Amino acid sequence: MKILITGGAGLIGSNLSSHYLNKGDSVTVIDNFITGQRKNIEKFKEKPDFSFIEADTTTFDFNKLQQFDIIYHLASPASPIQYKKHPLKTLLANSTGTKNVFEFALKSKTKRVVIASTSEVYGDPLEHPQKETYFGNVNTFGERSCYDESKRFAEALAYTYIYKFKLDIRIARIFNTYGPNMEKNDGRVISNFIVQALSKRPLTIYGTGKQTRSFCYVSDMVSGLYQLGNIKTPKHKIMNLGNPTEINILELAKIIQQLTKTSSKIVFKPGSEDDPKKRLPDITLAKKLLKWSPRVDLKPGLLQTIKYFKERFEL
Ligand code: UDP
Repeated sequence: MKILITGGAGLIGSNLSSHYLNKGDSVTVIDNFITGQRKNIEKFKEKPDFSFIEADTTTFDFNKLQQFDIIYHLASPASPIQYKKHPLKTLLANSTGTKNVFEFALKSKTKRVVIASTSEVYGDPLEHPQKETYFGNVNTFGERSCYDESKRFAEALAYTYIYKFKLDIRIARIFNTYGPNMEKNDGRVISNFIVQALSKRPLTIYGTGKQTRSFCYVSDMVSGLYQLGNIKTPKHKIMNLGNPTEINILELAKIIQQLTKTSSKIVFKPGSEDDPKKRLPDITLAKKLLKWSPRVDLKPGLLQTIKYFKERFEL
């Protein structure tokens, strides 16, 4: 099969590329390295089935490309620190970038398109855990809005291309994901804590540390996205993908202290605007339709990630 992955140099995209290449499929990656890392795709470069285009999906002329069986549109900053740094690029990646992908898919008769949406479409949720049917509690006018609202726009765009133009699109609402190929400075909580612990700096908790998340190891996310791209046209177009084990940020900091055997202390900093107080995916749908559920528990996943950070960044 021929696979196109936008954002293929990022955490999820590079691991997904690796998965398809290992299966013998051909993979083309488009990335502009706004948040992706060159190092993540370096090892694919000598593979004949891999090709890379350095480009921005908002301006790239997709018509230059051949036909693909599946397109994964993952290109967008996804870490709060990064999308707050690049709000306009984030808004455009998820609006113009997504439209460009859909137009190309229509014209080139691509069989399937999978787009990365996010648990952020639920905002600071009032329903817990979050099911796909929940409409969310999102601020349209704040520092997270560039990401939350552009992903919501991408979903609305997908609705139009599915029902008006009959394009086969599947939407993955991706919850917090971590693992090898994370960027050292991308600002996510797990990368921050590990880098701080390994370099003997204090672990910074924003707010009280009582806010919760559920963390999915990247190989589990990849297998979910793979399944979502490979099943026959699903009855439900939107699916939560994430690990259904909830933990608060203070507990997470303590586990990382313990696993890294660091002497670093924990410090508390002011919380950030509209930071969701809790987040937990209901993955009933993905379990049923994709026959998928995460397999990697938090501690073994964190140990692999700590090993990766030590090796890649010599920490
Ligand atoms: N967080 C933290 N310290 C950090 C980075 C993040 O306490 O160094 C908190 C952040 O405020 C949020 C949670 O950890 O409550 C998860 O943040 P992250 O940036 O990883 O992703 P989010 O779930 O907010 O998209």
